[in-house]
Amino acid sequence: MITLERAPKLWDTPEKDAALTWVPITTTDGVTAMVVCANGHAGLITDHEIDAAGHVTPSVVCTETSSRGTQEEPCDWHEHIRLDGWEG
Ligand SMILES: [Zn+2]
Repeated sequence: MITLERAPKLWDTPEKDAALTWVPITTTDGVTAMVVCANGHAGLITDHEIDAAGHVTPSVVCTETSSRGTQEEPCDWHEHIRLDGWEG
């Protein structure tokens, strides 16, 4: 399991610099999180449970693709994560 640091604000442009951070996002269903994978892809985890300590279940799989040369390859990031600073 890895711990993601809370970013000070929503990133203007999620990039490698924002890798492995998260920000809280309020939706009509309550507060969830947007997380950035190790390859700099941002995604909402609305279909995951986040407990009071910030543990996210189930594990998070990135569904984005990365450019490698001229090829687009699926991002293979898949981790059990905890959101540092989660306040529920
Ligand atoms: Zn990714």
